[in-house]
Amino acid sequence: MNKQPYETFEDFDRIHEECGVFGVYDFDRHDVAPTIYYGLLALQHRGQESCGIAVSDTEGPKGKVLVHKGMGLTNEVFTPEHLERLSPGDIGVGHVRYSTAGASTRENAQPLVLNYIKGTLALAHNGNLVNAPELRRELEYDGAIFQTTIDTEVIAYHIARARVKSKTVEEAVGRAMRKLVGAYSLVIMSPRKLIGARDPFGFKPLCIGKRDNAYILSSESCALDTVGAEFVRDVRPGEIVSITRDGIKSDTSLCLPPEKEARCIFEYIYFARPDTRIDGVSVYHARLAAGRFLAKDHPVEADLVVGVPESGNAAAQGYAQESGIPYGTAFVKNSYVGRTFIKPKQKSRESSVQVKLNVLKESVAGKRIIMVDDSIVRGTTCGRIVNMLREAGAKEVHVRISAPPFLHPCYFGTDIPSEDQLIAHGRTVEEIRQEIGADSLGYLGLDRLPQMAEGLPICTACFSGEYPIEPPREDIRGEYQK
Ligand code: SF4
Repeated sequence: MNKQPYETFEDFDRIHEECGVFGVYDFDRHDVAPTIYYGLLALQHRGQESCGIAVSDTEGPKGKVLVHKGMGLTNEVFTPEHLERLSPGDIGVGHVRYSTAGASTRENAQPLVLNYIKGTLALAHNGNLVNAPELRRELEYDGAIFQTTIDTEVIAYHIARARVKSKTVEEAVGRAMRKLVGAYSLVIMSPRKLIGARDPFGFKPLCIGKRDNAYILSSESCALDTVGAEFVRDVRPGEIVSITRDGIKSDTSLCLPPEKEARCIFEYIYFARPDTRIDGVSVYHARLAAGRFLAKDHPVEADLVVGVPESGNAAAQGYAQESGIPYGTAFVKNSYVGRTFIKPKQKSRESSVQVKLNVLKESVAGKRIIMVDDSIVRGTTCGRIVNMLREAGAKEVHVRISAPPFLHPCYFGTDIPSEDQLIAHGRTVEEIRQEIGADSLGYLGLDRLPQMAEGLPICTACFSGEYPIEPPREDIRGEYQK
């Protein structure tokens, strides 16, 4: 039998976000599944491996939850028939996932639905717990049997356990949160309530929206625009909000003094969509500012500034505005290939970069180019893109990166590879420049990050090594597969 002549390209040289969450409670009792579906489409950039929606009827039998989830993109997992089957349901939560801890399998797809003595909970979670292995062992010694390998199940069990001793589910969420250490934005559906919670450091975003008589919780504000909802406010780091027919109740007893908060700066640099605002700061403006800082700190004579799509584009515009060098387009992106796609096994000249990006020769030939990208991870992708520009006739290629060099792992839900795989680890900027074959290379300075976030307290650990929470001694990423 012939061997399968294909394997898959992995888009491995990018950093990935772990997840996106979305929840709706419609007081007019309309079905919420279609709104959650459109919300998840708008959050798809936060996770492309699996997705799911769970809904319930607040006037139906307590504990009846309709759920559909699967591997793949939102528009692959859900057909019109699936959405029709998620009815009746006037309250619901949805999730898109990329795995950093826990295998990429259907069992690990979310939302996670849990039946327990007090009813049913459906949870969707974005982030990574630093103490998940200890919390899991604690439950296992108590007799718990886990169905998945994800942190979310650990959180769900702790909430369920706390619920037995609490008057309300939000009180149980608060009790569980006192035990959780790490990054989490949660959207939780109980039979009659929609609850949102954000860890006290505020690593991951979560905001509240409203459309007619429906309240919405979403990882990013761009998804509120997509479903025609207005932005109400961000959930505060450490805050628990519970949405019922009586309105929104807020518990801020776990909030830290603002200077201790630590939002993931990489949300502004790369993860979030540019049309999102997080805690009052526009992601687009933050990227423009990064480009302007790069132009001030690393000027060079050139003919054209270009961005590596998509996240490099706004920073490139900022560079062009500050330097006065024209902004242009150098790349055409094929938006129809996903994160993983097939390639022939026999030696092939195509690289995943070339499949996804092509250079506009007419734009770059004979010119000195400033190429702005958001990060360099292993360096392979950046080197290939520099080479593509040269092959298209660029006279010089000057690379500017709208983030500092990656030097340390992230334990809060981002899949930064181990230090030995990071090109900046153990290399000077000059050595990296040589590796990627650029004429010059400039990174955003660490001191620029707080300015980029307009003074909001931020986490910069993957660049600075200064962790807002003591990092675990063992590598917790993928812990349960060991
Ligand atoms: S270590 Fe880096 S990627 Fe992780 S939360 Fe902090 S800033 Fe974000």
